[in-house]
Parts: sequence; structure tokens; C-alpha cells
Amino acid sequence: MSEPRPAGVAAVVDRVAAVRRRIAAAAGRAGRDPGEVTLVAVAKLQPLEAVRAAVAAGVPDIGENYAQELADRAAAVAGARWHFVGRIQRNKAPVLVETRALVHSLDSLPAARALGRRAHAAGAVARALVQVELDERQAAHGVPAASLDEFIAACGGVEGLQLEGLMLMPAPAASPEDQRPLFRRLAELAKRLAPGMRALSMGMTADFEVAVEEGATLVRVGTAIFGPRPTKKATKGGAG
Ligand SMILES: *Cc1c(COP(=O)(O)O)cnc(C)c1O
Repeated sequence: MSEPRPAGVAAVVDRVAAVRRRIAAAAGRAGRDPGEVTLVAVAKLQPLEAVRAAVAAGVPDIGENYAQELADRAAAVAGARWHFVGRIQRNKAPVLVETRALVHSLDSLPAARALGRRAHAAGAVARALVQVELDERQAAHGVPAASLDEFIAACGGVEGLQLEGLMLMPAPAASPEDQRPLFRRLAELAKRLAPGMRALSMGMTADFEVAVEEGATLVRVGTAIFGPRPTKKATKGGAG
């Protein structure tokens, strides 16, 4: 307790408290228990200190978009649970397995097989959510809703892989209310799945309250916790 806090921790503590209040209020409006909602702090491009601050502020669930950043941070930060929310590249499967990350963004069978193979070889199980594409406003990544059943069935045959639910990353909208029908649709899709597969990762800074109202069990919040993101360096290996 007497240890000096790194710069920025106090601000992160305050912002986390505000986000948690908003999650609780949204859950209350929907008659849900706020304890059903896991807050994932998305730390992409933020300094390492920000990740430490989130963990110190009581948010152990940290989301990363880049495999190299995930590997570096997992080596440097204790006490975190890792979430991978970025584009999956098959050759990054080892990092995802070694950090025991929950992968939110599974959207291809080759990636599913690479994850499963790597996990199985390590005597582990890779946990993943299927990223679903519901949104015609952009050429989004994700498995189209029409192919979801087929994709899930195919993943069922992949040893070492365990699907736990669905994830949605819609195109930005003018108002969070514009996302509500998409969140509702994802929740409806999940309801048809096995009880062990009903995790719903949806909602970001702009719209996490609407997502909680519609049933999110994981919200991925970056800016509201860390402030604006530094811009990505153009060098250093792309979006791996
Ligand atoms: C960056 C990112 C977030 C967080 O975005 P904010 O708007 O800063 O909350 C959530 N999910 C994914 C997949 C992201 O890439």
C-alpha cells in the first residue's frame, strides 16, 4: 500500500470506477446482474504502464490486438488475464496459446486448426469466441451469420479448441442506439447455441451500455479507461 503508484494510475482508477458504474446502471435497466459482465480493458498501443495501471485498478482482464504486444506484456505484467481481440494470423497461434488468451476474433477454419493444434501439442485447450459479421455497412471481418452453424460444426471437430461464444465488432455508428439491433441479433444467435457457448463479447467505449442492456457478458473498453490512443507506429512488423 505504501508503494508509490506509477503515473496515471489514479486517472485509470477513476475512469474504471465510472465505467463500472455505467455497466451496473445498464445491467440494472435490463434486470441483469452486473456480475455477469466482465470488463476487458483494451490496451492496444497504450504504454506498458497503462496495462499495469488497469491491473492495479482492479481490471485483470486485458485485451490486446497485436500478438507481439501481447507476448511482451504477458512477459512483463503479472496478475492479468489476457484477451486477444485483433486479427488472427495463423503463425501467431503459439503466442495465443502460451499466454492462455481468450481469443475473441476467431473467424477462419485454418486459424481454428492452428490454434487447436498448438494447444493440443502443449496439453492445453485454446478458448475462443467466433467473430460474427452481421453488418453490411463495412466489409467487416468475421463469419457471416448465414455460415455460423456450419463454421461452429467444423470447429467442433478441431481437437484442442473450445468455443465459448460469439463476438461482434460492428462498423462505427452515429449513435449507440444504431448498434442495438446488431447486439440484439448476436444475442439471439447465441441463444440457439449450447449453454457453454453463450459468452457474448460486444460493446466498446461508444456503445458498451447498449451492449450490456442487450446481454453482453464481455465488454471491450479502451478509450474510456485509458484515454485517447497513441497512433500506431508505422514501423515494427505490421498488425501481427
Ligand atoms: C480497440 C478495440 C476496442 C476498444 O475500443 P474503444 O473504442 O477504445 O473502447 C474494442 N474492441 C476491439 C476489437 C478493438 O480493436
